[in-house]
Amino acid sequence: MEDQLAFVKSLLRKLQGTLDKAILQKYNLNKCERVAEKLNNFSPNCMECQQQLSELKDHLIQLESKKDRLEYTDYNHHNQLIKGITSHLHKKHKLLPEGYYLSIYMSFGISIGCALGLTIFNNIALGIPIGMGIGIAIGAGLDADAKKKGKTI
Ligand SMILES: [Zn+2]
Repeated sequence: MEDQLAFVKSLLRKLQGTLDKAILQKYNLNKCERVAEKLNNFSPNCMECQQQLSELKDHLIQLESKKDRLEYTDYNHHNQLIKGITSHLHKKHKLLPEGYYLSIYMSFGISIGCALGLTIFNNIALGIPIGMGIGIAIGAGLDADAKKKGKTI
């Protein structure tokens, strides 16, 4: 298992060394590396993680072999693969996507702010930013905590 991860990482290094910046940003290889590490951690006890890690490896081999003529379909495939992995890690292993709490608490804060704005402040435009600010503070705090505990993808 360790070897598979090392191989994936070496492919990522190669891609990082050759692809141009705009493409690298689009493909988000740092995230790719993080999900590979998580898959590797769960692999001994999870068939699906094993399978997804090997799929990711095959996909990166593909990318590496055609790195100077990547097409939209390659990006699409890449995106789908990462999404599938993220969703498995979230559902099965309770890992959280980056900014998970932030997005939840921000929208929660906005609705609370809206309600407060309408009732207490009698000014909806005042309530929304207050609610949003509180939501962001709570969400960011929970995200930072999850990250510290290694629960973030
Ligand atoms: Zn798994």
